[in-house]
Amino acid sequence: MPLTLIHTRSEWQVFRETLHGPMVLVPTMGALHEGHLSLIRLAKSHADHVIVSIFVNPTQFGPNEDFDRYPRTKDADIALLEEMDVTAVFYPSTEDIYPNGPASATRVYVPEWGKRYCGKSRPDFFEGVCSVVLRLFLLVRPTHTIFGEKDFQQAQIITRMAQDLFLPIQIIKAPIVRESDGLAMSSRNRYLSPEDRTKATQIYAMLHALQQTAPSPITTALQDSITALAHHGVRTDYLVLIDSTTLEEVTLPTPGTRLLFAGYVGHTRLIDTMAMGG
Ligand code: AMP
Repeated sequence: MPLTLIHTRSEWQVFRETLHGPMVLVPTMGALHEGHLSLIRLAKSHADHVIVSIFVNPTQFGPNEDFDRYPRTKDADIALLEEMDVTAVFYPSTEDIYPNGPASATRVYVPEWGKRYCGKSRPDFFEGVCSVVLRLFLLVRPTHTIFGEKDFQQAQIITRMAQDLFLPIQIIKAPIVRESDGLAMSSRNRYLSPEDRTKATQIYAMLHALQQTAPSPITTALQDSITALAHHGVRTDYLVLIDSTTLEEVTLPTPGTRLLFAGYVGHTRLIDTMAMGG
């Protein structure tokens, strides 16, 4: 079947009426890679209809962040999605998502969780994410959606928003897909110079070592890891062990806890996470 590519809200609304039964929405910002494709494959195992949205959401980028230069690779994305045999791709414009403009648009946020970890250095990020995801849910009206555990805090915040607002949508979590040397796949990896790309592998190496040794308490090992990463040219924003359910910081690496990392290689912000124990 040829790919159905839908560019506007009104076109989508007409198309939506033709779809019945379970439907999974896979929200993305495009520049698709194998991580995104793994979400689509998992989506297909849950429902006949899989809708992929591609929207680089302006409200989740800070003023000095990479909104303008975020990779936009529409032709390559569409070629990949043609291979994946999805029901439709929703590729809205900013006007479709924010009819009254993004700056003054109604927002939604999860207060405490949204201010932790990535929320400290990116104060508007999760509010922007929740605000766009809620719009996509209301517009697309899927029965299911999928979020990658690579963005673990994001997946938990969206789950919390859906619970708090009684959204009738089942949220599926998908495991991280990594490059062969362990680096978590990300659209931002293409910003990395060859030297920075080599440095970035230290992030996975560090998480894996912490997972394997699991010192208890972990506090000193986290500090030592931050120092070691700095020697390898990786600047840590945060490295924490958290309870996966409450998102509280903890010190004992028990099953149900998880490492969260964010940092910079050169100017590129990278995040990663790894479950402990179990
Ligand atoms: P993005 O396009 O970066 O907003 O990501 C869209 C979705 O793909 C989110 O749910 C991400 O968590 C997920 N995702 C991105 N990278 C990966 C990866 N390496 N493995 C699994 N899921 C990913």
